[in-house]
Amino acid sequence: MSDTVLVLNVGSSSIKFALYGDPAARPLLRGKIAGIGIGAGPVLSARDEAGNVVPADEIPAQDPAAGHDALIPSLLTWLAGYQRGTRIVAAGHRVVHGGRDLAGPQMVSDALLAELDALVPLAPLHQPHNLAAIRAVSAFMPGLPQVACFDTSFHRTQDRLAQLFALPRALTDAGIIRYGFHGLSYEYVASALPVHLGGRAEGRVLVAHLGNGASVCAMRARQSVATSMGFTALDGLMMGRRCGAIDPGVLLHLMEGHGMTAAEVAHLLYEESGLFGVSGLTNDVRVLEASTAPEAQEALALFAYRAACEMASLAAAMEGLDAIVFTAGIGENSALVRDAICARLGWLGVALNKDANAANAARISAASSRVDVLVLPTDEEGVIARATRALTSG
Ligand code: AMP
Repeated sequence: MSDTVLVLNVGSSSIKFALYGDPAARPLLRGKIAGIGIGAGPVLSARDEAGNVVPADEIPAQDPAAGHDALIPSLLTWLAGYQRGTRIVAAGHRVVHGGRDLAGPQMVSDALLAELDALVPLAPLHQPHNLAAIRAVSAFMPGLPQVACFDTSFHRTQDRLAQLFALPRALTDAGIIRYGFHGLSYEYVASALPVHLGGRAEGRVLVAHLGNGASVCAMRARQSVATSMGFTALDGLMMGRRCGAIDPGVLLHLMEGHGMTAAEVAHLLYEESGLFGVSGLTNDVRVLEASTAPEAQEALALFAYRAACEMASLAAAMEGLDAIVFTAGIGENSALVRDAICARLGWLGVALNKDANAANAARISAASSRVDVLVLPTDEEGVIARATRALTSG
């Protein structure tokens, strides 16, 4: 019987999962339950080690009304049956918030869960789902070693100035600081930099994680120096449905002038803004790129404009720029968005090779470019699997 590590990345409407034999290799199985609590109900899809789609008749039917608590046991039952001859020996979880102090992955214990429960007010949309998944696994497989990996940990190397808001000190002391997110993605990219950049990997590198959620991280010596997301995952870049950085006076006006409640403003900022809100169409970049509607083109132009401005600002935070890495769904696949961003960064020494960019090649900078520009697929699940194996073996 061979040992496997289960990786769970639980969001509000989806559960992403992967099963690793060797955490340094491709997962034996990778999949997703999407549509939890919305539309026709949850749908499970998965691919095996070779990238083949696992046939639908192998996937158990899901109750449309099932929530996370019901889905995790049924997922674990399915996984146990799918991989005959293997057994899950540990589980690793993506947990959005590790607070100020947790600078690396942690073994799950009652004390840790209590500490993470206390952080729920800082990430009310994500943290409860992450912790519910840990508890559901504990209930279904009592005694299974579990590891929590945090999206905030990678940024704890930042100087104090990069983490401060210009607010009264009492609020800073109460934990209202810039935490930063997407840390597991940045950790993966940081680990992959030497292969692609050699000695320049230790220089000043901007990593743009452009997915449905989007942020940029400035790294020096492969450590986070500054990042565009702050206290919440709303700050910084324009995103799929989130507005990114906004004049806080707008929020006061919406509440005082338009009579909106806090919940209504939150819904507007998290769900109705970004590419979706500006285009009035969709948050899917593929659809926006194919559309001739001026609103769709303006949404893409604004996305690239905001990203380039944030990236230039982070170049100042790390006092120079040696390389840019694009990653995540849009960063890995949209030549148009990368081109529009890099066109605004020419003054920093960025020049693209158009053909390499159109082909989504690993290196897309022109030979003449002072700044290396790379496209690297991220692998958050792999980071979690390796951390879980490292903390639980021996
Ligand atoms: P992620 O959150 O990293 O999964 O990224 C999701 C986003 O990536 C989607 O909403 C799409 O907008 C974008 N995306 C995925 N594939 C492509 C593609 N081939 N071309 C342009 N954008 C893409």
